[in-house]
Amino acid sequence: MIGAGNDPLMRKLEPAPAGRFSKESKVETLSGTHLIVESKVESLSGTDLIVVSNREPYEHRRLKGRLVCRHTDGGLTSALDPVMRRLGGTWVAWGSGEADRETVGPGDLVEVPPDAHSYTYRLRRVWLSPEEVKGGYLGYANEVLWPLCHVTLDRVAYLKAFWSAYRALNYRFADAVLDEIRQRPGPVWVHDFQLALLPGLIKKTVPDSRVALFWHIPWPGPDVFRILPERRELLEGLLAADCLTFQTAGYVREFAECAHQFLGAEVDRSHDTVQHRGHRTKLTAQAISVDFRYISDLAKTAEVESLMILARRRLGIRQGIRMGLGVDRLDYTKGLLKRFWALDTFFTRYPQYRGRFIFVQVAVPTRSEVEAYRRYREVIRETASEINARHAGGGWHPIEYLEGRIEFSTLVAYYRMADLAVVSSVYDGMNLVAKEYVASQVDEAGVLLVSQMAGASDELTDGLIVNPYDPEGLADAIKQALEMPEEERRRRMRTMRRHLQTHDVHGWVDRCLRDAGVRSEDTQGPGG
Ligand code: UDP
Repeated sequence: MIGAGNDPLMRKLEPAPAGRFSKESKVETLSGTHLIVESKVESLSGTDLIVVSNREPYEHRRLKGRLVCRHTDGGLTSALDPVMRRLGGTWVAWGSGEADRETVGPGDLVEVPPDAHSYTYRLRRVWLSPEEVKGGYLGYANEVLWPLCHVTLDRVAYLKAFWSAYRALNYRFADAVLDEIRQRPGPVWVHDFQLALLPGLIKKTVPDSRVALFWHIPWPGPDVFRILPERRELLEGLLAADCLTFQTAGYVREFAECAHQFLGAEVDRSHDTVQHRGHRTKLTAQAISVDFRYISDLAKTAEVESLMILARRRLGIRQGIRMGLGVDRLDYTKGLLKRFWALDTFFTRYPQYRGRFIFVQVAVPTRSEVEAYRRYREVIRETASEINARHAGGGWHPIEYLEGRIEFSTLVAYYRMADLAVVSSVYDGMNLVAKEYVASQVDEAGVLLVSQMAGASDELTDGLIVNPYDPEGLADAIKQALEMPEEERRRRMRTMRRHLQTHDVHGWVDRCLRDAGVRSEDTQGPGG
């Protein structure tokens, strides 16, 4: 096993380039120390879009006394950051970094991204109390809603006190958003399950505001959702929005069914609208995506090509050795254990691949404050070691387990190098790793194995669609991918790349905002 600390290709926390901040501060960057002088944060692109999410796109920390800024992990922030760079506006989010307060100016605003020279947007930080973080974010959101929506019901750890903290968290965000609307009126685009009550709280104070919400994770059917004691309050909070968008049409149907069963809301036949207490909410499905052009161009750069050479050397991938890849947060919904069992089966069934195939698993630690996540990480580490001990020989081992964060260009180098990538989530709203892999496959030589339980499998049908609950089936799919004729690999990959070219993250945001009735000229940023 390799830890991030001793691998040059991995990083835990490094000084990141810093940009303009709204008060004077010294910020250490990769290229030296910069003096950042006061810059008035004002409308940057003539757009007033207000994006709201729990997680912030950039956080500040102190590293050996120096102020550093880093991009946060996860699909939501990776997808929305390029969009906000294009559109401008304000992103309201929890200031989770330990040095976040040191870098904001009046109104708790900071201008991001730190490395941008022209295309920037405002980040407005919200300060949560320890109770709101513990009970609302870690408790209700992460230990109740997350496992419930991913139908991992044994993991639901409900406590009554979580609910009041979750409400308090939503009220805290509502205060900031309402103040933002007062100062710079504009449509509000709320994101994800931490903020389900926010549409209701905003509408109560400003009934004619335009509010849309995107639900990033799956929506379960009524038989599962009925577990939630506060199901009615949650549904009512959401239905106050003018438009609710989900990743797939299947999640829209389940949501409409829940609204009907638990609130008696009127759902039209095609599940396009729900009417409740005289308010009509539009329901739509739009699959989140990646910045295809950016990733594809990055994959062709000399920087990525030299990172590939470095990675091959570092991982011991000699000529003739094939490489598989997994990239996941260390979250139990990603099905890492089942994936490792499938690899165990693969090397037992097909011993001819020992020494000829290596599986690189990038595992990004996440939610370490939650005990279930710490335990999951231990089990994953142990399982990787056991499987390695069982099959290793002649200086080779089957799983190269890399734990830590990884630079995006290094990640793209891995994606481009990999002969196959495995996404084996037991349930996943979309899964951006699947799409990033396809976007990076500029040589069109790799094969994507994608779980039938991930939203991405609805679109990436030219991947091999796998069942994460069937380790033998997954083992056979790995063999099929390794033995697939080159012509078929290219045909499949090319089709998926064409699809993503026309269904990228920018198209996703335009479609979501159009569904929400936000006129396109309202949101034409500098790049749009
Ligand atoms: N990612 C990251 N840091 C890393 C490795 C991956 O930020 O060290 C990103 C990756 O590029 C992808 C996201 O994390 O955009 C994971 O998104 P996905 O939809 O697959 O899963 P999520 O984490 O949102 O559940």
